[in-house]
Amino acid sequence: ATPGPRQPAPKAGVPGVGAIIAVASGKGGVGKSTTAVNLALGFQANGLKVGILDADIYGPSIPRLLNISGKPQQLEDRKIAPMQNYGLKAMSIGFLVEEGTAMIWRGPMIQSALLQMLREVGWGELDILVIDMPPGTGDVQLTLAQQVPLAGAVIVSTPQDLALIDARKAIAMFGKVEIPILGIIENMSYFLAPDTGTRYDIFGHGGAKSEAERIGVPFLGEIPLTMDIRERSDAGTPVVVSDPDSASAAVYREIASKA
Ligand code: ADP
Repeated sequence: ATPGPRQPAPKAGVPGVGAIIAVASGKGGVGKSTTAVNLALGFQANGLKVGILDADIYGPSIPRLLNISGKPQQLEDRKIAPMQNYGLKAMSIGFLVEEGTAMIWRGPMIQSALLQMLREVGWGELDILVIDMPPGTGDVQLTLAQQVPLAGAVIVSTPQDLALIDARKAIAMFGKVEIPILGIIENMSYFLAPDTGTRYDIFGHGGAKSEAERIGVPFLGEIPLTMDIRERSDAGTPVVVSDPDSASAAVYREIASKA
């Protein structure tokens, strides 16, 4: 037969893995990885079996956020065993190559590394696999969105105009490849002073919610800017597991129940 027009590669699922959900942002530094980890732990707290894949090849933060180090083992079926902490299965380029190595990779190498971390890892039975996407809307993100059978994407933005403009681009990218937007989360929505309890809208407030309403996608919730989220993230003890009774942990669990 004569070859027809080039078809996009088929989206093969991952055996045993239920829904694959991307956590994405238009720009870096908005708290995407922090949100992805706490959201994944929130799903788990709500009774689901969860894994997290760190697709941020240039800036992997899952090893630090989950306080995992060392190299993965090979399983009997020759797949790579995911690393694990707090009950969460995790895979990151940070576990596979020396620090800095992946920084010099070009697009195709990054794509094949990502697809390997997805398909050649023995994830086992999972209800949800959360993918911490690289920030932005470049080639890698687009290819990933085209080749991974995503159930949907969650967009993280701060309330600021600039972050929202980029979030809009991310939403447009997923729209182009027909991946549903599960909703928008406003991170660093407001600051609650730990001493006085006074609330400050540091980056403005409510921008993500009005954007969600404008484009007709669910608004999943507001995560405050707090010391405990930042400190516990840096320490590798995410707030959802290290302080489950806190208001911050409750926010993530509630968002997880809506996503
Ligand atoms: P991104 O993945 O978007 O680059 P990170 O998750 O690495 O962003 O977060 C950037 C920084 O902001 C980190 O130091 C993180 O601890 C902090 N951070 C993220 N979300 C919050 C929050 N809600 N409250 C306090 N600090 C936060």
